[in-house]
Formats: sequence, structure tokens, C-alpha cells
Amino acid sequence: MPLPSLLGLTPDELSALCVAAGAKPFVGRQVAQWLYTKAAPALDAMTNVPARVRTALADTHEVGRRAHRLVQESADGTRKYLFPTATGHTVETVYIPDGARATLCVSCQVGCKMGCAFCMTGRQGYEASLSAGDILNQVMSLPERERLTNIVFMGQGEPLDNLDNVLRAAEVLTAPWGLGWSPRRITISTVGLRSGLQRLVDECKCHVAVSLHNPFADERAALMPAERAYPVREIVDALQTAWGRTTPGRDMQRRLSFEYIVFGGVNDTPRHARALASLLSRLDCRVNLIRFHAIPGSPLRSPSEADVLRLRDYLTQHGVYTTVRASRGEDIRAACGLLNTEARNL
Ligand code: SF4
Repeated sequence: MPLPSLLGLTPDELSALCVAAGAKPFVGRQVAQWLYTKAAPALDAMTNVPARVRTALADTHEVGRRAHRLVQESADGTRKYLFPTATGHTVETVYIPDGARATLCVSCQVGCKMGCAFCMTGRQGYEASLSAGDILNQVMSLPERERLTNIVFMGQGEPLDNLDNVLRAAEVLTAPWGLGWSPRRITISTVGLRSGLQRLVDECKCHVAVSLHNPFADERAALMPAERAYPVREIVDALQTAWGRTTPGRDMQRRLSFEYIVFGGVNDTPRHARALASLLSRLDCRVNLIRFHAIPGSPLRSPSEADVLRLRDYLTQHGVYTTVRASRGEDIRAACGLLNTEARNL
């Protein structure tokens, strides 16, 4: 059994460990500072923590930092990393530089239970959920960590299916004692699970993105089996209530968006545009259109540029703020689970 990670613990939890090792509570805050502010990779680096306390901590915990095992680089500078986890699995993390902006797409599970038809990870099936430490390690051990401006939970796995650890990781990322990130630079993306959507809205201040991909229930279910458990119409109803509940005191900078992967001939027709505009008309939200990147063995194909722009223009004209996300890392199939699949065959 691997030792639990210190990465992911709060100052109070670290203080409790330090007190149990015979130290004063403030030593726990020193450990937190080493872990998160100074990014210490090992207990030995925590020089103002008494040696006997470090020894005691090492008996029961590991720091939880792990360097990447593999990296692929796209012609456009996007890098896909493979990070090991405490349980001996590996997960993909994608670094996307774009001018002054640098976004990290983190994973929260090894594999995924959601089975989306367009996703290599979905085809792998589910293996494990990441601890908060393993989620945070993807940020802390990234070679480009200092350059990051944004983090998105859009990698492998469904955040609401590992919500406690995702919320814990978000807390460490945004806490003043943690990495001190603004929650407005972090987006958590979900297919929408009944069991966790409300908690995500209530217990976290990060932006929320819902994977929509089709406004029609039967067609969405064919792409995303999660539709059968929690139809997107009910998700929109719930978000109307949940997002509305935070008004009038609502932080207007917190963003609700819907991700819409555009598949050629599948969900890019005028019929889809009309239904999408109607579905979202009640919400203060935006839509991100994402061109589908073809994956091996899938009949789904990329859309034409003209169809994507027509969809964008229709939604915009009907009051739904819509952007088209630039395709990045297409040559390395960024964030689709392929690196993990290939790594298993090495
Ligand atoms: S798209 Fe996301 S939720 Fe769907 S199977 Fe892939 S990782 Fe899971």
C-alpha cells in the first residue's frame, strides 16, 4: 500500500500530524508553506522543520511529488505529459501555451466511467480515482508550472465522480495558504451528475463548464450515456436554480459555460442550432464550440469550418454568447487518453 500524500492536506491537518510527532502546531503551517509556496519536492528540503518531525512524517506519509514519465510535444507547442500516481497508474496532463496565456488541462481519474463515444479515455473504462495529491502533483511537478495562467479540469475522468478530491485540490489551489490562485482562473468541467452538480456550484468558486454536445436527449445519449441518468434539460433547470440562487449577491465574474464538441453532420445542423439556443435561453452562460479531433476507430468526423461558424453566428444572434475554441495539439491528440493507451504498450 502506498503511503498517503502530504500534498493535498490543509495546514490544520498538517499541524495535527506534527503535534502527533511531538511538535508545536505552527510547524504544520511551516510544512504547508514548504509544500505549496516553496514547492519542496521532499521532506529533507524542509530545513526549518525539526529533523525528528520530518522522520516521523516520513514514516506515515510521502510528500506526493512525482516527475512526469513521458512527454509528447505538438508542432504548436502543446505538450502532453504522462504523470505517475501513488497507486502506480499514469494520467495525462496537457500544457497549452498560447501567447501570454498558458493553460494546464489536468486529469482527475485514471480512465472514466462515463463512456462518451468520442473519447479514448471513455473506451479505456474506469480504473481509479486520483487523490487530491495526485491531482495537485500535475500542477506542482509540471516543468512549466511558473508560466501557468489557467487550469482546467478537462482531462481524463469526470470531476463529479471524484468530487471530494477535486474540491480538495481546488481548495489547495485557491487558498491563501495554498497556491493562492484566483478561482476565476480555474474551470471545472463536467458531464453533469445529479449527485454532485449542486455541491460543485455551492462548495467551490471556480468556473463551471458542462459538456453538452447535443441538445436532443436521444442524440446526446448516443454520444454521452450520462444523459440517461441526468438529462441535460434537467441539468439546465438545476443550474438555473443553482446559479440564480447565488444572485443578487452572485459573483458576476464566475462563469457558467457549456462545452459543445462539433461533430461533422451529427450536431452542427440548423435544427441543432435552434434547439441549443432555445435550451440555453434561460441561463446567463456562454457556449464554447470545439471542433472534434478524429480519434482512431471512430466513425465521428471533424466538422467543416463553415458549419462551425454558422452555428456560432446563429447562437450569437439569438443571445447566446458563443466562442470557437482554437484547436491545439491535434497532432498529439491532446487530452484524449491516447498517450496513456500507448504507454501501456511500451
Ligand atoms: S469525455 Fe470526459 S466524461 Fe466523457 S468519457 Fe471522456 S473523460 Fe469521461
